[in-house]
Amino acid sequence: MKTVIFASTNKDKLKEIGEILSSKDIELKTMSEIGFSDEIDENGEDFTDNALIKAKAVESYILEKMPEFKDYIVLADDSGLVIDYMGGMPGVQSHRWLGDRTYPQAMTDVMNEMKDVPDEKRGARFVCAMAACVYGREPLIVKEKVEGMINREMRGSEGFGYDPFFYVPEYGCTTAEMTRQQKNEISHRGKAMRAMRDLLVKENVL
Ligand code: IMP
Repeated sequence: MKTVIFASTNKDKLKEIGEILSSKDIELKTMSEIGFSDEIDENGEDFTDNALIKAKAVESYILEKMPEFKDYIVLADDSGLVIDYMGGMPGVQSHRWLGDRTYPQAMTDVMNEMKDVPDEKRGARFVCAMAACVYGREPLIVKEKVEGMINREMRGSEGFGYDPFFYVPEYGCTTAEMTRQQKNEISHRGKAMRAMRDLLVKENVL
């Protein structure tokens, strides 16, 4: 039995990841369930840096406070929305960039700014880097994305964050109009989680 500790407090991400990793050989825990409550400063240059910063912070805590516990896999993801028209923003700052706005307010601001932008220039992608720290090994990293467009209106009530205006042409809907299972199949985080699971199997960790 391996214990996977997910280095995030985001309940929506936890639900998504729990569904992909559910297996009788894996016990999934949150970082608060192992007593970790420090604020992690996500000051990396890119998604990969930030995923590593988060995973290493939780691994350092385990090594210091629970030295007998070696059967862990600390998983951390860093993700965000990259909008071509905005030169890649909000990118790694996807959460901070909100400031004191709600997601609907921030999406309305973007849609207003892009109201005259033609479809071919509305490209965007969700990106996810995932890092895994395993006892006695170098960290493992994967990175995945899902391509889409900034829609002209918000649609759907599933998902979270920027999902209501992230339109995926192949599916003809936003990621907020997909069920969690559909979103997991195509999403940046779903793909990264499956790629990480396969890598952990290949490396004989799982
Ligand atoms: P993180 O927790 O530092 O990875 O921040 C990721 C931020 O990017 C979230 O708070 C959202 O603003 C945005 N984001 C990442 N993934 C998604 C998604 O699947 N749907 C909508 N927004 C997302």
